[in-house]
Amino acid sequence: MKCPNCDKKLTNERIKRVGRRDSSRRAERINHNIYCDNDCMRAYKSKRAIEAKTCKECGEVKEYRLHTNIYGVQRCLDCKEIAVSIRRTDSEVTALVMLNPGAGFDYFIDKVFSAPGRKMSKANIRWRMTEFLKEIGEYEGIDYIGWLQSEEAMRMVKQDAIPDGFEKYAKGQRRSIPSGHHRRTRMRQGFAPSDTNQSNVKIPPEFRWGEYKPL
Ligand SMILES: [Zn+2]
Ligand SMILES: [Zn+2]
Repeated sequence: MKCPNCDKKLTNERIKRVGRRDSSRRAERINHNIYCDNDCMRAYKSKRAIEAKTCKECGEVKEYRLHTNIYGVQRCLDCKEIAVSIRRTDSEVTALVMLNPGAGFDYFIDKVFSAPGRKMSKANIRWRMTEFLKEIGEYEGIDYIGWLQSEEAMRMVKQDAIPDGFEKYAKGQRRSIPSGHHRRTRMRQGFAPSDTNQSNVKIPPEFRWGEYKPL
């Protein structure tokens, strides 16, 4: 067993002594930490009190205790107001954007913000994300939006070889098979008519999660 403040191993003697003192039923229920001494206890408690007031988003220590929402995101009221999502911190969003050049908004939002049983407003998330990426990008000097939408980072595949689930994210898609005129010309030239669509399209790369997980 270790002291939660300084991480030093507690002596058996210390554990026994504190254990005896706290042996009331009430103390058992509270599930006490054991510290080296009172200094460690005080230091630990004030550290925790500061943590409870520190915004995980902007890092500022506020005057008030911060709320941690059910998704485990603890942010101050100011950050809450401009947040992209209640489910993801803004730093997660930028980290995921950096991991996924060429994903494009559509695919990115489907991957990052959709959750089982959730009806989400993609347009709203997209709007908030754009505002946020523009602002943070100007501040940091990084073109997050260009990076996310980079066509160079996309995969080139034949239209009839688009992997499952990627059809709706394809760019440069030809909706119909080659025109009748084109087909007739090819037949006259002795080629078999082809119903397959061999034109190239661009699709986002497979999503990279890094250290993060789907919701
Ligand atoms: Zn200690
Ligand atoms: Zn904040």
